[in-house]
Amino acid sequence: MRDDFKENIKQKVAARVGFHCSNPSCRKLTSGPDSDPNRALNIGVAAHITAAAPGGPRFDSSLTAEQRSSIENAIWLCQSCGTLIDRDRLRFTVSLLREWKLQAERAASSLLAAGTEFRPIAPSELIQELTIGELATIRALSEEFGCEVTPDVRVPSGNGWINLHAAVVRREDLVAIDIHEFKGQGLPYFQIEYLVELGAKLKFERFQKFVLYIAVISDALPELDYSVQQRLEQIAEKAPFEVYIRMYRLNVLRAKYNL
Ligand SMILES: [Zn+2]
Repeated sequence: MRDDFKENIKQKVAARVGFHCSNPSCRKLTSGPDSDPNRALNIGVAAHITAAAPGGPRFDSSLTAEQRSSIENAIWLCQSCGTLIDRDRLRFTVSLLREWKLQAERAASSLLAAGTEFRPIAPSELIQELTIGELATIRALSEEFGCEVTPDVRVPSGNGWINLHAAVVRREDLVAIDIHEFKGQGLPYFQIEYLVELGAKLKFERFQKFVLYIAVISDALPELDYSVQQRLEQIAEKAPFEVYIRMYRLNVLRAKYNL
């Protein structure tokens, strides 16, 4: 038994976001004219925030059939985003989808009110999409630390700030994570050395120390990893603060985390 949406609910959920996909980094228009002048074309789907049937993505057994097929449980998406959210169940959580829906409705509402095609850029649009390698590295470190690792952070320091691939806080210390994808053609060691040099000079109001994890996600021939590790260990030994090296194999993490 699937608790599907009735046609009038699908229509309403689409109209509430102006027939645009609710994924903030997509926002594709999902309706338009068909070449048959009597028909309109629809390439959107009313997706379930929590699944229509047990075993489906984000299924919530505490809901009644009525709640499951209500407009509150629907989000309007283009077909590819509709597929995407059901493939990566860990990434596309109920709370993320609710946030998308809210943002999309707000965007449609301000478009209506202002009569302009401009809207403020959404926070999620400012963050660059992570590559599979970066995502895998962040998962692995989250598991090691027992704490969620935040990607793409900007931390105030002195009179400015520093941009980091990812970060966590360990007691009173800022733990910066520098992620590099290794495909066999070497690494930008000068950038890593520069970050170590910079790290030694950084002053924070909020944090006592700067700690650095250099994470390498390798898709190169396994025998090439050793020289990368050695070179990074030399950099770590010379650093005037704590620097840790983590080497990961892309295929191992992809299999482990189903990426
Ligand atoms: Zn989309």
